[in-house]
Formats: sequence, C-alpha cells, structure tokens
Amino acid sequence: VGEPVLRNRSRPLRPEEIGSHRIRELIEHMRETLADAPGVGLAAPQIGEPLQRAIIEDKAEYQANLTAEELVERERRPVPFHVLINPEIELLSPPILSFFEGCLSLSGFMAIVPRAQKVRVGAFNEIGELTEIEAEGWYARILQHEIDHLRGTLYIDRMWSRSFSSLDHYNRHWKSKSARELVQEFRPLDGED
Ligand code: ZN
Repeated sequence: VGEPVLRNRSRPLRPEEIGSHRIRELIEHMRETLADAPGVGLAAPQIGEPLQRAIIEDKAEYQANLTAEELVERERRPVPFHVLINPEIELLSPPILSFFEGCLSLSGFMAIVPRAQKVRVGAFNEIGELTEIEAEGWYARILQHEIDHLRGTLYIDRMWSRSFSSLDHYNRHWKSKSARELVQEFRPLDGED
C-alpha cells in the first residue's frame, strides 16, 4: 500500500492480449504468488501491473482454521481457481454483510468491511471466453475485493475504521466473535463512516 499502481484504475486488456503467451505467463506467475502467500485472490495491480486481470482460488485447506459454524456464518465454501479479465460487477444486494477481511497489499492488518451478499460478474477467462458468475457469501466478498483492486480501491476505503486491527490483535480479541457481536462492537455511529 502506498504504491501508486494500487490507486489507479487499471486498463482493460485488448482482445488480442487476452490469450497471449505473455498474459498466460503472468497468470501463472500470479497463481504461484497467490499460493505462496497464501491468499484467496490476487489482482494484477498487486504485482505492479495496471491491467484488469485477477485470479481467485479459495481452497478447502484455507478454511480448515474456521469452525463449521464460522463457515456457515460466512457462507464460505471452496472456490476453484479461475481468472477474471475485464470484469464488470453488479451488486445484487446492498452492502450490509460485515466481516473482517484482509489484503496481501496490507499484510498484517484486518478490518470489518461491509459487502453485498450476492453479486453478478461478467468477465473473460484466460482463453477469451465470456463468462457470467453469480456468487453469494464469501465468494461474493472475494469478487468485490478483487474487482475493487482493478478500480484503485482498497478495503480500507470501505472499512469500518474503528475495527482496523493488527492481525495479532484480531486473533487475540475478535477472531472468535460472532458477526452479531462484531456489529455491536464496531458499527459506525450515525454520520460516521
Ligand atoms: Zn487485496
């Protein structure tokens, strides 16, 4: 964070670029970076490329530290690896689901970010096919977070600022709290964001 590429709107890929060797290599590089981190999503600006391209993969093993109840509350289920190129997003519900999230570009911190429960995304995949995704719950959250990156937006622009926490203190105080408790603790006061 602080790197200008994270704050600019990325440029769409041209049709001839989408299936190109160079873009395929960059996708493979992003996939390795995401697995090493590890994380559930990565957008091209996060590796210094101002291009509208992101990848998502939420592996079952990443969910092993959550209880069954936490998985249900977050509506979190495994999402297979896929690529989003030039995505357009439509929120199908208001941004009212509030959970802690983090970002590889702001490592070591977490904050509560209200997000829509359901979204529709149209995007090209890595071989130039137009795909339409309807997603709910945690997958919808990941899509909103990654597509924000392509618009120069970070979660700190949308967070409940009083909830901003170091990862250590998140694990110590907030990780085991229910969504209801967290909303009571951190909901912004009227007129505050
Ligand atoms: Zn991020």
